Formats: sequence, structure tokens, C-alpha cells
Amino acid sequence: MKKVVKFGGSSLANAEQFRKVAEIIHADKGRRYVVPSAPGKRFSDDTKVTDMLYDCYQSAGDEKALEQKMEAIAQRYQEIIEGLCLELSLEDEFSKMKEAFAAQAGSDYAASRGEYLNGIIMAAYLEYEFIDAAEVIRFDEDGEFDAETTNAILSRRLETVERAVVPGFYGAYEDGRIKTFSRGGSDITGSIVARAVHADLYENWTDVSGFLVTDPHIVEDPETIETITYRELRELSYMGATVLHADAIFPLRKEGIPINIKNTNRPQDAGTLIVENTCRQPKYTITGIAGKKGFCAINIEKDMMNSEIGFGRRVLQVFEENGISFEHTPSGIDTFTVIVHQTEFMEKEQSVISGLHRAVEPDTIDLESDLALIAVVGRGMRQMRGTAARIFAALSHAHINVKMIDQGSSELNIIIGVKNDDFERAVQAIYDIFVLTHL
Ligand code: ASP
Repeated sequence: MKKVVKFGGSSLANAEQFRKVAEIIHADKGRRYVVPSAPGKRFSDDTKVTDMLYDCYQSAGDEKALEQKMEAIAQRYQEIIEGLCLELSLEDEFSKMKEAFAAQAGSDYAASRGEYLNGIIMAAYLEYEFIDAAEVIRFDEDGEFDAETTNAILSRRLETVERAVVPGFYGAYEDGRIKTFSRGGSDITGSIVARAVHADLYENWTDVSGFLVTDPHIVEDPETIETITYRELRELSYMGATVLHADAIFPLRKEGIPINIKNTNRPQDAGTLIVENTCRQPKYTITGIAGKKGFCAINIEKDMMNSEIGFGRRVLQVFEENGISFEHTPSGIDTFTVIVHQTEFMEKEQSVISGLHRAVEPDTIDLESDLALIAVVGRGMRQMRGTAARIFAALSHAHINVKMIDQGSSELNIIIGVKNDDFERAVQAIYDIFVLTHL
């Protein structure tokens, strides 16, 4: 078994967490490639090292502030080094960083040092080879991740390396300038490494025991999802479920490598397994429920709309010309609704309305704001009758008015629109009917 293991910031926040991580790695010989994040929060109102680095870089022009902030960062690493009784000094690294900060090396460079330094410590502690991500993860001139070049470089580099630490979150342009992924991007690095070495499994270690069926801020102590497919996960992540960076799926999908979300503080928990496909049925008809507030519906009405060829295209073109992406387009015979993010729409509202008048000469345009969308996702829905009926019965019992329904042809999800104010109650009602009453 060849495994790539990625550890998130909270799993590496201090020496004690490092020790747990090493124990986990040593417990399984297959855990050969390690991708660390930067040290995260040690307690709830602590600051992540990545945030300290961004802040420190802001002070690059002020020598005294730079000195002070850099010292606080160095202290975080020193604590870890001493706590692990390592004979390692990062002094030279910090001198280089100070010079680079003063020379305006860029905020990406600054932020990347969090993972870089943690990688050096991790490699020393495990006695694994350290491989700087700048050498092996490549971005193109437009700042886009270059998947194929990276895969070629990385697989060649790791071919003869039995065990290595590759820091997460960053890579470099061809000329060596550092570039980071978006926040939480160490998850992506883990996937990239797993693809390059044809891993059997990518373990993503964090501080929760996997994906929960729904948001624990809404439903108390929700169940954990045992197995989820990449496609289901895409749907849920898009609608707000976090834990894994949404872009971390792509490198692995190409290879069909499963991901196991695991908890560093409870390694005995099975966690959630993310797979390309599975014949395992989910425990409950649905796999998960996610949602977001802050949408707006633009309802366009026009008599005889159904016989006007090109109506839909002309409507959507107005949104395109205004740079607004649409989420859903439920329609009736003489009505066409476009659902968009409210904040995105608000800035362009009047320009969209006048554009629509010009493009399709509607009878009326009616706006409904403050909507929430809820995605009920599950590969099990295809085989089951009555899933939609149960959802709507639950919502009706909870006296929630459904504003919109959209079921994709894949039958993987049902999207429901409700008022923002009804959002939490709606999620709870759907959770209860499927999970609590196990119907
Ligand atoms: N350290 C980076 C962040 O805080 C990347 C990561 O942790 O994945 O966003």
C-alpha cells in the first residue's frame, strides 16, 4: 500500500500535535509521502501562522514592526522544535525571509513560508527527505496550476524517493517565483502528490472525523458520512460544505484514487471515504444536506413566451454581458426565472433589468430577494421512490413555504429554495425525516 498523508494546520499547531502525527505515520509503513500545512490554531482565538505571515508582510516597509512580527512567527516554530527536542535551527531561513520581505518578494512568497518551514521540521522529525514544493509544483504564466507539467516533474522526482515530505499550499512559476493556491490549498498539494505517485489512498488528516451529513451549526451532532462519491461531494462542497478544498478532487478523479478524511485526534474513527464510484448504498436515502443563503430570483413573465424561440438564450445573454453567473433557471410556460447570488446581482441590478427589457420585451420583471438554496444530495435517490415527497412533507409539516424546486437529470440532487429566515428550520426538518426517523 502506498499512501499520501496530508495534515492540516490544527494537526500541526504545536509539538504535541506533531507527536500524534508522527505516531500515525509510523503506525503504517504505507504512509510514505507527507504533505504538511502551516501550524494552525492551538486554541480557538489563536492566530494561524499563515495569517501571521500575511500580516507580517503588510509591515514589510516598517523595519521595527517587521522585526517584531517575524519574531512572533519564529517563536511559534521554535516552540515546536524545542518541544520535539530537535537539533534544528531555522535562523538562516528567517534571515533569508527578512531580506525577501524587505525586497517585496510578494505576499504569496510570504504565506508559503508557513508550510515550507513546517515541512523542514516535519522532515527532520520523521527523518524523511524534504522536497521543496517550489521545485515540483508548477504554475503557468497566467498563474494557473499547470497539472500536466507538475505531474511529469513530480512523478519523476519521487520515482526513486522512498519517503518524503512535500510542503502544501504552494508551488512556483517556471522562473522560480512562488505562487500559492487559494486558502486551504494544502489539500490540493496532497492530491497532486497522490496522483504523481499513483497512491492507493490519499489520507487527509484534519480535526473532524469526516464529512457530516449536514452543518453542525444548524443540526446538533449530525451523523458522519461513511462513503461519498466525488460527484456527491462536488454538489455538497459547492453548496457550502467545507472540510476539503473543492479543487482537491480533480487530480484524483483522473486516477480514481480514494480519499479518506481522518481525525488526527481520533485516529481510531473510520472517517469518510471519498470514492469515484461505489456499490455501497448510503446509510440513509440521502448522503448529505448543504445550503447557502443570499440568493435572488429574477422572475420574467411574458405572454406566449413558450413560442418565442431563443427567449432563454437572450435572457441569459444579458446576465453574461453583465458578468453574472446564474445558479438555476426554473421555468413555466410563460415564466422564466433566473436565480443568482444576491450580492453579485445587486451591483448590476438596474443594468440587468434594462438589458432584459431590451432583449426580450417582457410583460413584467419581478424580483424576489433573500432566498436560501438547499441541496439534498444522494446517489441513493435514483433507486428510491418518494424522496421528493418526503422532503416536501417534512417542509410542509414545519410550515415552510417552498419557493423553488430543481431536480437535476442526474437524480443526484434536489435543490430547494426557501426564504433565508426559514433556512435553518428547513435543513433540520429534512435531516430529521431522513436521518432521525430513518424513513
Ligand atoms: N496554510 C494555508 C491556509 O491557512 C493552506 C492550508 O492550510 O491548507 O490557508
